[in-house]
Amino acid sequence: MDTQDLIDRLDTLNTLSRELEIGEEDRKKMAQQVTTYTDGFINGLQEARCFTDKEASGLSINDKRHTVEELLSLYQKEVIETGIIAPSGKHFGYIPAGGIYAAALADFLAAVTNPYAGVHYANPGAATIENEVVNWLKKVFGFPESSVGTLTSGGSVSNLVAFTAARDKYKIKNGIIPESVVYLTEQVHHSAQKALRIIGLEDVVIRYIPVDAHFRMKPYDLDAQVKRDIADGLNPFLVVGTAGTTDTGAVDPLNAIADVAEKYDLWYHVDAAYGGFFILTSKKDLFRGIERADSVIVDPHKSMFIPYGLAGVLIKDKHAAFHSNSISGNYMQDAAGEEMAKSPANLSPELTRHFRGLRLWWPLQYHGVEPFSACLEEKLLLVKYFRLRLAALGFELGPEPDLSVSYFRYPFESDAEEKNKQLMAEIHKNGDTYFSSTIIEGRFVIRIAVLSFRSKRETVDRAVAMIERCLALVK
Ligand SMILES: *Cc1c(COP(=O)(O)O)cnc(C)c1O
Repeated sequence: MDTQDLIDRLDTLNTLSRELEIGEEDRKKMAQQVTTYTDGFINGLQEARCFTDKEASGLSINDKRHTVEELLSLYQKEVIETGIIAPSGKHFGYIPAGGIYAAALADFLAAVTNPYAGVHYANPGAATIENEVVNWLKKVFGFPESSVGTLTSGGSVSNLVAFTAARDKYKIKNGIIPESVVYLTEQVHHSAQKALRIIGLEDVVIRYIPVDAHFRMKPYDLDAQVKRDIADGLNPFLVVGTAGTTDTGAVDPLNAIADVAEKYDLWYHVDAAYGGFFILTSKKDLFRGIERADSVIVDPHKSMFIPYGLAGVLIKDKHAAFHSNSISGNYMQDAAGEEMAKSPANLSPELTRHFRGLRLWWPLQYHGVEPFSACLEEKLLLVKYFRLRLAALGFELGPEPDLSVSYFRYPFESDAEEKNKQLMAEIHKNGDTYFSSTIIEGRFVIRIAVLSFRSKRETVDRAVAMIERCLALVK
C-alpha cells in the first residue's frame, strides 16, 4: 500500500466511521426524544403497574439499524413492561431502588466527558471527586482520615474488597485456611459467603451465631464461640456484623460486637449495604460502634436513592487494603509517582472504571444532605404506618423493625402456609404494587421494604387497598 492508497483507504473509512460522532442537530433531537420519554416515564409511575410477569423478546442484536423512536418503543415494551419497575414508589419488594434525577444527569455528564477516574495522574479532578465521596463516607461513619476506601459497583464487590483486606492482614492462606474461622449470623447477606468463596476461602470454618427475637446477633454467644474455637486450636479472624439485614432490617449490636472483636483481635466488618445511611436519621444510636469496625460497606444505590451501580467500602488498615490491589504494570509507570491512596485503582480490583463518584458527589452538592435524611426518616415512619394499616386488617406482623423492612402474613384458620403463598401469587398477578416473600423461622411471610424515595403515604394507602382486594380473593 503506497501513501496514496493509504490516504484513499482512510478517506473511505472516515466516511463510514464518522457517523459515530453524531452532529449537533441530531444530538439535540436525540436528547430531546430521550428526555421526553423519561419525563413520560416519571410522570406515569404512579399509575403504571409496578410488576408484570412477562418474558422479554425481540432484543437480539442483528446488525439491522433502528431509529431512536423504534428503540424507545422497544425499550418501553420489552424492558419497562417486563418484571419490576424498580424506581417506582410502589416497589416494596427486595430492597427498592433509587434513580434520583440529579444522579442520572451526573451519569450523563460523566459518560460524555468520560474522564479517567481510576488513576490520579490521568485526571486529578475525577480521582479527587471519587476520593471526596470516600472522605464524606468516612465522616458519616466516624472513620479516621487515615482510613482508605473506594467506590465499587455494588455491595457484593465491596464485601469482596473488605474480606480480601482481612484475609491479607491475617495472612489466611494455604494450610491455615481450614483452621480459620469466620463469624456470621443466618441473617447475613449471601454475598458474604460468596465473597469468601471467590477469594479462595471456601474452606474456612463458618460459625453462625444465634440471633435474638429481633434477628440481631447475640454478642455473648459470639464471645463464647470464639473462646471455644481458640481453646480448640482454631484461628478466629473475621466477624461480620450487619447494620440492616436484607430480610428483616435488623441492626446487630454493633458496639457489643466491637468489644468481642477487640478482645480477640478479630477483623470486624460491618455490612451496612442497605441500612448504613439510616445513621443520618433519628435511628443513629443503633449504629453506635460502627466507627470501631475495621471495614464498613454501604450502598448509595440503596439508601441514597442513586441509580444501580454505586457502593462504598471503607478500610482502616491501608496496607491490608493495598496488598492485593496495588500491583502496577510497566504501562502504568507514568502514574507510579503518585501517592497510592490518591488513585482509586490501588484499592479496587478494577483499573479502568466508570467515573461513578460523580453520581453521588453531584446530588450531594446540589441537594445537600438534608433531603436525603428527611427521606430516610420518612421511610421509617411509613413502615410504621404500613404496619398499623395492616394490623387493622387482621394481619400478623413481624417484630417492630429496627429500620424500614418488616413482614406480615395472614392468620388463616386452616392451610395458613398455602394460603399466604396464594395471597402472594394474587399480589403478583395484580401487579399494581410489588412485594416479595421470604421464609422467617420456617414460615412463609410477605416482606415490606420501604426505601423508594418515591414511596409516600398515598402510595402505602394504595398498596394496602390492593392487599385487601387480594386477601378477599383468597379468603
Ligand atoms: C444488597 C445487599 C448486599 C449486596 O449488595 P449489592 O449492591 O446488591 O451487590 C450486601 N449486603 C446487604 C446487607 C445488602 O442488603
